[in-house]
Amino acid sequence: MARPLAAAKKLSADPSKDADPCLVIFKGGFGSGESGGLLIGFGGEIVIEAIGLVKNYGGLCALDHFDLTVKTGEIFALLGPNGAGKTTTIKILCGLLSSDQGQVRIAGVEMAEEPQKAKTQIGLIPDEPYVYPKLTGWEFLELMAGMYRLNGRWAEKAVEYLKIFEMDAAARSRTLLESYSHGMKQKIVFTAVLMRRPPVMLLDEPLVGLDPKSIRHVKAIVQSCAQEGASVLLSTHILTLAEELANRIGILMNGRVQFMGTKLELHQFLKDRHVEAHSGESLEDLFLKATLKEEQ
Ligand code: ATP
Repeated sequence: MARPLAAAKKLSADPSKDADPCLVIFKGGFGSGESGGLLIGFGGEIVIEAIGLVKNYGGLCALDHFDLTVKTGEIFALLGPNGAGKTTTIKILCGLLSSDQGQVRIAGVEMAEEPQKAKTQIGLIPDEPYVYPKLTGWEFLELMAGMYRLNGRWAEKAVEYLKIFEMDAAARSRTLLESYSHGMKQKIVFTAVLMRRPPVMLLDEPLVGLDPKSIRHVKAIVQSCAQEGASVLLSTHILTLAEELANRIGILMNGRVQFMGTKLELHQFLKDRHVEAHSGESLEDLFLKATLKEEQ
């Protein structure tokens, strides 16, 4: 798999001057011009691919012909109001839920044809951390290492992340996961994913329940995973997080994609619809304008 940093290509300082702004990312996300502006060309492979996904729950269409590609090293943020279809999308992408129509390919592997092979490429952080309540933190990590047939080095990596999350002592104690707080469970789930360093990370509201220090660590870790080549799909209502981390965003409303692209393109999208928008506006402001316009 191509390493984006190794393949890094300097582009002009203003992404609008490059032929395709979608092919340009800033280190630290599209909102972080102040971060130093390392620019990386996205010539990488498509790793997450959704084609024409449709999902109905009875009479409700939760996803209506949804298409998405996320490339090597890219962080994509899926945004949208409550009930827009974000979790449904993530569940279909990771094979937890089947779609009524459409296809999912993960690292070129068809989810419907080779689900096990596709799923081994994915690290899922759901909004609700599912753990086995009667195991200790360390037993849970051992179980995950066995399930994914990780080699002996997994424990070293697990300890590295447990220390970052200040969970080393708790995980090695006899305390069962059932008595962990929400945030502690979330940190164990993060560790279970990060010790594998999967090429695809699907994160559904990953910061819920985490303390500010852990949030800072998670943001840095997600960025470093992407810089090392992981493709990240992130669903969140925290627009500052999307602005900080994501290279592209998608706005879903009622199961339909209203917009997909960079912040620069969202700004243009609004202007094309005669919505007053300024280039210096936050993603939060632009998002609210875009969703308000669609509701009208
Ligand atoms: P939120 O931001 O509130 O988490 P979301 O964008 O993740 O929302 P989804 O959970 O994907 O939205 O839900 C999309 C729509 O599908 C909603 O209208 C929801 O009520 C409906 N839905 C989701 N799961 C089911 C289910 N198992 N049965 C019936 N309807 C469902």
